[in-house]
Amino acid sequence: MYYLGIDLGGMSIKAGICDDNGKILCKDTCVTVRNEDGDRIINDMANLCLKVISDAGLTVNDIEYAGIASPGSADSEKGVIIYAATLPFLNYNIAEKLSERTGIKKIYVENDANAAAKGEATYGAAKGYKDSLFVTIGTGVGGGIIIDGKIYTGFNFSGAELGHMVIVKDGDECPCGRKGCMESYASASGLIKLTKKRMEENKDSIMWKLCNGDINNVNGKTAFDAQREGDACGIAVVKEYIEYLACGIVNFINIFQPEVLSIGGGICKEGETLLAPIREIVKREQYSRHSDKQTIIKTAELGNDAGIIGAASLGK
Ligand SMILES: [Zn+2]
Repeated sequence: MYYLGIDLGGMSIKAGICDDNGKILCKDTCVTVRNEDGDRIINDMANLCLKVISDAGLTVNDIEYAGIASPGSADSEKGVIIYAATLPFLNYNIAEKLSERTGIKKIYVENDANAAAKGEATYGAAKGYKDSLFVTIGTGVGGGIIIDGKIYTGFNFSGAELGHMVIVKDGDECPCGRKGCMESYASASGLIKLTKKRMEENKDSIMWKLCNGDINNVNGKTAFDAQREGDACGIAVVKEYIEYLACGIVNFINIFQPEVLSIGGGICKEGETLLAPIREIVKREQYSRHSDKQTIIKTAELGNDAGIIGAASLGK
């Protein structure tokens, strides 16, 4: 059977056809163009879906179901996007609209990080495990909770916002309205903010050279690159950043004790440089450190296609 996965983002819409092994046979993308009632998005999404189905040499009847991974919160039972800051949809039945436009009968809708967690549990880093967590590190910190193979969303579909756990009381302001959320410190944006702050205090750091003397060129790799060069300030920034990230991760593990916790997003390209110190902190601090069963902490496996593959796994 074939499954259509749709990754609906504020900037672009991606769609792909997956087989039973979560392999993408064919995919395409278009720009997200917002008009007031969102009709333009539905039309463009429907055309994109029909195009990838046709490009794969299939018809709508060959598609078992479609899944939509959306930002914000989504009522997965009704197929409704409840709210998404980057999209013009409010309590909007996107499943029904897309079904009318494409003829695909079964359409699932889910928050994008939850869908990616399901994708990792079905085809990726947590395949074969019943309980897993997925943490994605980008401009924010997103999360997904899989319990007994199913996405856990809470009764109002707004659960699993792992990044909005406070790790520094009265800390930096977060767009969610709280102060000191993990997202403010452990996201790529948090890392960039920390790197810039420490650079201002350390004018002799090699990081100035790495960004050609312009602090606006700092990115999520700058401190890690400086660490590899043996730069004391770079080493200190990476250590401090990882301590924030690990603080959140120990909290998650203490609550859920998942079999696998996978970390996605651009920063996971650092691999063991990132994971080894996190494992050390978890080993030292987690509540269940004396158990012979320990959470496996690893990088996520679906990469840039996590949205499409996650969406295509929603009916699994
Ligand atoms: Zn927050």
